Amino acid sequence: MTTSRIAVIKGDGIGPEVIDEGLRVLQAIDARAGLGLTFEALDLGAERYLRDGTTMPAETMQRLRTEFDAVYLGALGDPRVPSNVHAKDILLGSRFALDLYINLRPIRLLHDRYSILKDKGCEHVDMMVFRENTEGLYTGIGGQFKRDTDDEIAIEQEINTRKGVERIIRAAFAYARANKRKSVCMSDKANAMRHGHDLWQRVWKLVAAEYPEIKTFHLYVDVLCMEMVRTPERFDVIVTNNLFGDIVTDLGAALQGGLGMAASGNIFPGRVSLFEPVHGSAPDIAGKGIANPLAAMLSAGMMLEHLGHAEWELRLREAVKACLRDGKTTRELGGDLGTRQVTDALLERLF
Ligand code: ATP
Repeated sequence: MTTSRIAVIKGDGIGPEVIDEGLRVLQAIDARAGLGLTFEALDLGAERYLRDGTTMPAETMQRLRTEFDAVYLGALGDPRVPSNVHAKDILLGSRFALDLYINLRPIRLLHDRYSILKDKGCEHVDMMVFRENTEGLYTGIGGQFKRDTDDEIAIEQEINTRKGVERIIRAAFAYARANKRKSVCMSDKANAMRHGHDLWQRVWKLVAAEYPEIKTFHLYVDVLCMEMVRTPERFDVIVTNNLFGDIVTDLGAALQGGLGMAASGNIFPGRVSLFEPVHGSAPDIAGKGIANPLAAMLSAGMMLEHLGHAEWELRLREAVKACLRDGKTTRELGGDLGTRQVTDALLERLF
């Protein structure tokens, strides 16, 4: 039997609460299906940073690269660490060091009750966003000159490499073909950003030509935002850069019923990849046992798919849908259950 080695970083705030429940479900699946999952919890996060100043040791990053198949991450962020340096080193550090170039964000409404759009339901909101995850405006390249003077200059460089643009566009098309999705929409701002986004335009056209069966269209990102709200049913697969992907996927989280339902993967196909719920550490509700664990469950499903168990991603998603249908949810979704009880309800519906 092949085994899958999963590193677990529970993180801060509600992170450990939802990840513990996710682990309970993963272990139950493993006990049932014999997937050969192994788990190792890594002592990283705000507590560790406050204890000894460690954020993400180079040896740990090397271990992630060589000894694990996936990382299951909770949330990072703690009011006692206002700089958020640990989150930056752990999450952004992993994205860059492990070259996790695909930020994959499914935007699926799983029950009509949670739609915030008039006359739109589950059949209208079902799209997969491929956000470039290793370059764009988030590399930190730039500088400040004459800081804190009236003449201050601040420069933030946007990086677009041929390799980086091509591989994320290819990933989106490959997904569309493999999953029989009808269209791929590429979004940029080439009318205003004439160098980097012109590269996106050229590469997109070249790659699209290799996928004649897939409808392709382009929208400037401002139009994309408008259309995602007006006609979400237009979208199957969306591919865009790091900054725009960050923004439109949060808009997408609202369309799918809120942060408690939004899952994500930071992926390098075939290599160690990291899966996390989109929500943060939510210090306002931490420790109360009321955090919604469903985003952590859906992220665990994405991880299982990455590990070669797509059937369990589907089953987990169906179990989440059944919980929503039956009103077995936490308070922010209108239910009256705690984190652990939602997991119990999910387990009852999973097998
Ligand atoms: P961070 O700084 O770590 O990003 P945050 O509190 O600023 O944390 P989020 O945690 O992403 O940001 O979410 C904002 C609010 O949404 C939270 O304060 C919380 O009230 C609510 N929320 C987020 N995730 C959940 C969840 N899983 N269950 C219930 N409510 C949630």
